[in-house]
Amino acid sequence: MKKKIIVYERVEQPVLEQLEEMFDVHFFKNIDTKRHKQFLTCLHEAEGIIGIDLPVDEELLNHAPKLKVVSNVSVGYNNLNIEQLTKRGIMATNTPNILTDTVADAIFALLLATARRIPELDQFVKTKQWTELLTSAQYGVDVHHKTIGIIGMGRIGQAIAQRAYGGFNMDVLYHSRTRKQGAEERFQATYCSLETLLQEADFIVLMTPLTDETRGLIGGNEFKQMKNSAIFINGSRGQTVVEKELIYALKTGEIAAAGLDVFEMEPVSFDNPLLQMNNVVTLPHIGSSTHETELKMSQLAAKNLIAGLRGDKPPTLINESVWKDA
Ligand code: NAP
Repeated sequence: MKKKIIVYERVEQPVLEQLEEMFDVHFFKNIDTKRHKQFLTCLHEAEGIIGIDLPVDEELLNHAPKLKVVSNVSVGYNNLNIEQLTKRGIMATNTPNILTDTVADAIFALLLATARRIPELDQFVKTKQWTELLTSAQYGVDVHHKTIGIIGMGRIGQAIAQRAYGGFNMDVLYHSRTRKQGAEERFQATYCSLETLLQEADFIVLMTPLTDETRGLIGGNEFKQMKNSAIFINGSRGQTVVEKELIYALKTGEIAAAGLDVFEMEPVSFDNPLLQMNNVVTLPHIGSSTHETELKMSQLAAKNLIAGLRGDKPPTLINESVWKDA
């Protein structure tokens, strides 16, 4: 008999077809996982879960006695309670590396779009407001030769630094949990305290994972320390920023503008004041969303799931101790 697996939301079609050949696949999306009877019945028998953003907490795990692998189709895994999974000997996996350049491209595009006001000026042209020579009302600010401050100098943070240093001749400041000697050499990046970074950077890019330590990392106190001309970019997770304090900082001119790929609540609510602000550029959490990279992520996530269910070590296992203890 085929093993039962749950596919939650986004797995690309060719990979889904591959999984359907190997497993008894049950597909769910947009459900209240705590109350959905069919989901809970299925979870009781499921040996694997693959997908994106399914909150795997203690309560859900209590309904999953046979679960062996949870395979995230993302590099971030703040939706997984790793401690509980590890305690129960369940493998957790993610999809690092293959999306690094794609996310860095998207976040750098967001930075450029915010600095040069690309979406606003696109609308200016399309709504027939371009009727005479431009004035300073349409100017943006330079990116090249400015200072970028990267908070969270991991894989994606370093790929952003590479673009900033190599492509735009920017000075790179960074703040991270640990110092990155390689990045200091390759991008002449300077390690500094969070306070120094906030005070000195023209562009502040947040690229940490969402953890207990980083939840609300950037709030009122941090915005106050930034330059009034600072442009803030969030490519991490919405909850790393106190959104209402970001709104206040933008409204009162404490900072100049923001580019946001992520929000406290996703999809973002239509009445969120950020959506009314011309100095805010928004994206629908599309960091890794290219055809090529989404397919690679699904393929790696499937590889992880298949390996784990075969009793092999998944290529990108998060909780290594489960494997060592097995
Ligand atoms: P990574 O290589 O693990 O990098 C994260 C970096 O943040 C690491 O250098 C880490 O330090 C640092 N860090 C962790 N906690 C910190 C703290 N409290 N203060 C300062 N720095 C801290 O991960 P990645 O592949 O670059 O991905 C980073 C995050 O980007 C993901 O977790 C995800 O949330 C987000 N992401 C967003 C999108 C999108 O679509 N917008 C797409 C992909 C990823 P250490 O080196 O010491 O561990």
